[in-house]
Amino acid sequence: MTSVTVGVLALQGDFREHAAALERLGAAVRLVRTPDDLAEVDALVIPGGESTAIGKLADWHGLVGPLRERIDAGLPALGTCAGMIFLASSTVEGTGQVQLGVLDVMVRRNAFGRQVDSFEAEIPVVGLEDPVHGVFIRAPWIEKVGAGVEILAELEGRPVMVRQDSIIATSFHPELTADGRLHTLLLDMIREG
Ligand code: GLN
Repeated sequence: MTSVTVGVLALQGDFREHAAALERLGAAVRLVRTPDDLAEVDALVIPGGESTAIGKLADWHGLVGPLRERIDAGLPALGTCAGMIFLASSTVEGTGQVQLGVLDVMVRRNAFGRQVDSFEAEIPVVGLEDPVHGVFIRAPWIEKVGAGVEILAELEGRPVMVRQDSIIATSFHPELTADGRLHTLLLDMIREG
């Protein structure tokens, strides 16, 4: 797929791992730090990390408006963990952190319990034959979904992967495994136009 450029929002968090995962699939990657970078990409990954930091940095870099516009206009997007929180409309905590509000869900941050900061679990995903190995690190779950949101995976009865039009979001970190299937879903959305 040489003609396709996938952006990875590279303000904070594990953007290098996402870039590597995409390159393994043959995509050209552009790290996105400015509105000009964003204008050049055909899809966007928002990595895991710390969602409050990503929000503040996006604001400082003048990216919040351009990100909302492009994703609302159908730019395929994949948000993982903090990336999911940044895409979402609101958090249960309601602390007013910067969020894009393009994904109609309310998330609960650090939802699986502070005593278990990280864990791994096999996650069956709608549309995939074999489960995904989910790496959860201080992960959010989805507390409420809007009408247009499809739940693709759950853990303990809580949504941990959703899709709304051309936005996919996961509580876990596919970029920390060798499994390229979720990044492939993003590339497929570009092809589907
Ligand atoms: N707990 C982080 C947050 O609230 C997310 C953790 C992660 O991305 N691994 O932003």
